[in-house]
Amino acid sequence: MQRILIIEDEQDIADLIGFNLQRAGFEAIKAHDGISGTEMAMRERPDLIVLDLMLPGRDGYAVFRELRRDPRTAAVPVIMLTARAQTEDRIQGLEAGADDYLTKPFSSKELILRVQAILKRTDGPPGSVDFTYGPFRFDKNSLRFYLDNEPSDLTATEFKLLLFLCERAGKPQDRNELLRTIWGYSDAAHSRTLDTHMKRLRQKLGEHGSWIETVRGVGYRVVKTDE
Ligand code: CA
Repeated sequence: MQRILIIEDEQDIADLIGFNLQRAGFEAIKAHDGISGTEMAMRERPDLIVLDLMLPGRDGYAVFRELRRDPRTAAVPVIMLTARAQTEDRIQGLEAGADDYLTKPFSSKELILRVQAILKRTDGPPGSVDFTYGPFRFDKNSLRFYLDNEPSDLTATEFKLLLFLCERAGKPQDRNELLRTIWGYSDAAHSRTLDTHMKRLRQKLGEHGSWIETVRGVGYRVVKTDE
């Protein structure tokens, strides 16, 4: 059973999220402030964290930076929650490297969809857990990623995004299709999510970032090895 950690000081919201996650087949554990949330994340190693930004003690951004710095939690997907609807907060969250972002009030159904989309395992032919493309190697079982045979720390979402493009190398992938496949979004309102992730992904790939091409008016593609 996949385990989700909810870090949220508002008890009724935490309980509601926990209840709905359990109903959807997940195990839910809860922390009600930033410091105990960080400790619980490192101790329990959840599969995903739902992180409220407005927390007593240590705010959500500080918790997030701490989680990304620690090797035990660096790759755990994080969905940020905030009461602030401003676009700036959303963008700040995504640029910090959150996998996704929900603005309160949100429906439980929406949250479950986001969690399911992020935790969905990458598809592939059965038995093939390793996929190599150019300088990239993906271990689909452990979600470990190697760049020029060196371990490299992609988040689960960055991993899925790059793998998806590499498995379809040479063919431009439509923006809406990427948003639907990687995040489960059914409309184009979340374009910024895709671009922010792509920017970070390219930064992490360094000189190999040029393997990903922007295809104007369509989306992105990974170039073919013989191009
Ligand atoms: Ca709060």
